[in-house]
Amino acid sequence: MAGRTVLERLTWRLARVVATRAETPRFVSLDLEVPGWPGHLPGQHLDVRLTAEDGYQAQRSYSIASAPAGERVAITVERLDDGEVSPYLAGDLRAGDLLELRGPIGGYFVWEPSLGGPLLLVAGGSGVVPLLAMARHRAATGSQVPTRLLYSSRSAADALARDELDRLARTDGSGFAVTHTFTREQPPGWTGYRRRIDPAMLEEVGWPPAARPLAYVCGPTRMVEAVATTLVELGHDPVRVRTERFGPTGG
Ligand SMILES: Cc1cc2nc3c(=O)[nH]c(=O)nc-3n(C[C@H](O)[C@H](O)[C@H](O)COP(=O)(O)OP(=O)(O)OC[C@H]3O[C@@H](n4cnc5c(N)ncnc54)[C@H](O)[C@@H]3O)c2cc1C
Repeated sequence: MAGRTVLERLTWRLARVVATRAETPRFVSLDLEVPGWPGHLPGQHLDVRLTAEDGYQAQRSYSIASAPAGERVAITVERLDDGEVSPYLAGDLRAGDLLELRGPIGGYFVWEPSLGGPLLLVAGGSGVVPLLAMARHRAATGSQVPTRLLYSSRSAADALARDELDRLARTDGSGFAVTHTFTREQPPGWTGYRRRIDPAMLEEVGWPPAARPLAYVCGPTRMVEAVATTLVELGHDPVRVRTERFGPTGG
């Protein structure tokens, strides 16, 4: 049974693009229908494979942005202008197109309500995507796990799902808080953070180590390593700090 499940996850499938959505000038979400999709946990990712006419193939990983919902999954792709795969996914795909993918992948960087909390979610750029899946699943299941999201973007226009996150924080009533830091450009009248995530910010926004939060940190490699190191230096249990690195360069 377990063997069959692993095989299912490694099998390439043809997904159909149901809809595309421009989230910000650089981020596009793709809603996908995946026949035979075995289901996923928030935090997991999938692999996408593109094949050129001459047979050349390129493969990239994308976190699943949506809460578990049958054979539907959404991914959110940041268009990197000099990138090989992301400009195609975020620019050329249209509803009705087919896309080869496999998954879900990953069993460590996942959260479900039974794991409890409190939760500290720390994101840089597109690293917010798997954390969005966790926040969406938390809301969909009515979980009361106290959750704080610290999200670093270049500007307000670059922040994914800003309205949705603010709404969750306003109406949830069950302890969801979001804090933004805009590192390059701030909206008029902005009084919040305007610098990269640092130890003081993590202390101010995060939970005290005595609360034993479960931390999920995702984003460019250098940011993830700096945040995880800081959390441990602040006294958090390394076992409760989970990380996912998106990019080789540090973004
Ligand atoms: C587990 C996992 C989950 C991921 N989830 C997502 C996701 O949800 N959304 C998303 O947009 N991306 C995600 N990524 C990153 C994604 O896999 C690709 O690396 C990214 O889309 C760039 O691919 P590309 O072919 O366009 O660029 P490439 O041709 O691979 O690279 C082009 C240039 O961009 C730089 N670069 C590569 N990756 C990044 C990056 N992540 N950030 C900044 N610069 C980079 C390279 O150094 C190079 O200079 C994830 C990566 C991993 C490992």
